[in-house]
Amino acid sequence: MAAATGGCMCGAVRYECTGAPMFMGNCHCRDCKRAAGSASAPAIGVPRSAVKVSGEVKYYESKTDSGNMVKRGFCPNCGSRLFSLPPFAPDVIVILASSLDDPSIFQPAMDIYTSSAQPWDHMNPALQKFPKMPPMP
Ligand SMILES: [Zn+2]
Ligand SMILES: [Zn+2]
Repeated sequence: MAAATGGCMCGAVRYECTGAPMFMGNCHCRDCKRAAGSASAPAIGVPRSAVKVSGEVKYYESKTDSGNMVKRGFCPNCGSRLFSLPPFAPDVIVILASSLDDPSIFQPAMDIYTSSAQPWDHMNPALQKFPKMPPMP
């Protein structure tokens, strides 16, 4: 993923990512469902230092099931979901793959929080499944 670009629907927020992805996966937790309005959130973890953002991103903070606070970022003008700041890794920013200019570069390796996955969602059976968070290195 060399210099992947993306942004929100209205164009007020744009970003460029020059770092290699650290993980790619779909999160099926209830909060990601609510925030994304979707069956799951397509998440790409990259080094925070590798992402350059222009425009204002508003962050909504909520408590995870581990009791930590996660911040979910969106465009305050059009509401598009863009980033998450995971509490377990302060150097990591999660990009929502749907906000990429070329979302086809998303190659998820896993489904996480599958205990909250919905029967109307079809998960790729080839991907590794974790009922909650995968074990952290
Ligand atoms: Zn926008
Ligand atoms: Zn989630």
